[in-house]
Amino acid sequence: LPNGTTGGSLAAADRVFTVTNRNELVAALTVTGSAPRIVQIAGTIDANVGDDGNALGCEDYYRADPTSGEMYALDKFLAAYDPATWGRVPPAGPQEEARKVSAAAQSARIRTRIPTNTTIVGLGADARIIGAWFDIRPASGNNNAAANVIIRNITFEDVADCFPAWDPTDGSAGNWNSLYDAISVRNATHVWIDHNTFRDRATRDERLPTYFGRLYQVHDGHIDVTNASDYVTVSWNRILDHDKVMLIGSSDSATASDRNRLRVTLHHNFIAGVGQRVPRVRLGQGHVYNNFYKVQHLPNYGYSWGVGRESQIYAENNFFITDKSIAMADVIERLNGTKITAVGTRRAGEKAGAIVDVVAAWNAENDPDLLPDAGWAPVLYGPAG
Ligand code: CA
Ligand code: CA
Repeated sequence: LPNGTTGGSLAAADRVFTVTNRNELVAALTVTGSAPRIVQIAGTIDANVGDDGNALGCEDYYRADPTSGEMYALDKFLAAYDPATWGRVPPAGPQEEARKVSAAAQSARIRTRIPTNTTIVGLGADARIIGAWFDIRPASGNNNAAANVIIRNITFEDVADCFPAWDPTDGSAGNWNSLYDAISVRNATHVWIDHNTFRDRATRDERLPTYFGRLYQVHDGHIDVTNASDYVTVSWNRILDHDKVMLIGSSDSATASDRNRLRVTLHHNFIAGVGQRVPRVRLGQGHVYNNFYKVQHLPNYGYSWGVGRESQIYAENNFFITDKSIAMADVIERLNGTKITAVGTRRAGEKAGAIVDVVAAWNAENDPDLLPDAGWAPVLYGPAG
C-alpha cells in the first residue's frame, strides 16, 4: 500500500457506523463492499449473546455428538478422559465429538471477521468488547493480502473458549489448550493495533479451575500474527493479565509462507502481569522498542522474548520492572532460535542510566549461546511522498 495502513480513514459518510451491541457490530462489518468503512464502538459490547441480546453462558453452547446423540457436559467430559482411567492418550468418542460441535456453536457467535479497509475505533474511554474473537484474515491459504485494518481505543476483555481441548501429550503433564485470541492476524498485511487495552478479568487465570492437575486454560493469545502476515504494528497498548500474549509465526515448518514475512513492530506498549510471548517469534522480524515490561510475581511467568526458529528480534530501548526473584536472563527463552539483538535495555533498580546486556546475561546461564545480533537493523520511513 503506497500510503501505509490507512484502514477506513477515507470512509464516505454512509460507511461510518456507530454500534452499541453485537448485532449492530456484525451488521456494520457485513455491509458489502470493500470501500473504506469506520465502525465506532460505543460502550460495552458482549459477543456471547443471542440474537435477542440475552447473555449466553457456556452451557448455552452445549451440543450433542451427532453420531451417538450424547450431549456435551463438562463433568461428563472430565469423567470420560481422566488420565487416571482413560490414560495419557488423546480424547476420542462421544464427549470429545460433542465438545467439538459445542465449540463450533460458540465460535459461530464470537468469531468476528474484520473486512479490508476498515477502522474499528472506540468512542471515549469506555469502549469495551467482551468475549469476541477479531479475525483479521482477508483470504485463507498462504496469500498475504492487504487487510488494511486499524483497531484503536478499545478494551478487549475475557476472550474465553468454553471448550478447551485436552492434550495429554502437550508437555510432561498435558495441557488444556484454547482457540480464541482477542485479535488474530492471519494471511493479512497492513494492520495497526493502537491504544487498546487487552486483559482478562472475570476469567483471569487465577480464577480458573484445575482439572487433571493442569490449569483449565480458556485463553489463547491476546494478539497472534501468523500465516504469512506482514507489516503489523502494535503500539501504545496496555497488555495485561494473561498468559500467552503474542505469537508471531505459529509453525517452525512454515518456512515457505512465513520466511521474509511476519515483520511486526511492537512499540510503546505497557505490559504487566503476563506469562509469556511478548512476543514469541518464528521466522519473522520483530522490532520491539520502547516497551514497558512490568514482570510481576506470577506463578506462571515464563519469559518475555521468545527466540523461535529463524526469528530476528531486534529489541531496543525497553524498560523492565521485575520482582527480585526474576533475573534478566529469564527475560529470554530460546525456542529453536539462534540470535537476538537487545540494545538499550534498562531495569529499575540498576544504576541510573545503566544498560543491561540481556543476551550476555542469558548466555552466562545457558548453552549454546545466542548470537547477540539478529542480523538486521530497523529502518524507519517517513510518510510517503
Ligand atoms: Ca492464537
Ligand atoms: Ca553460555
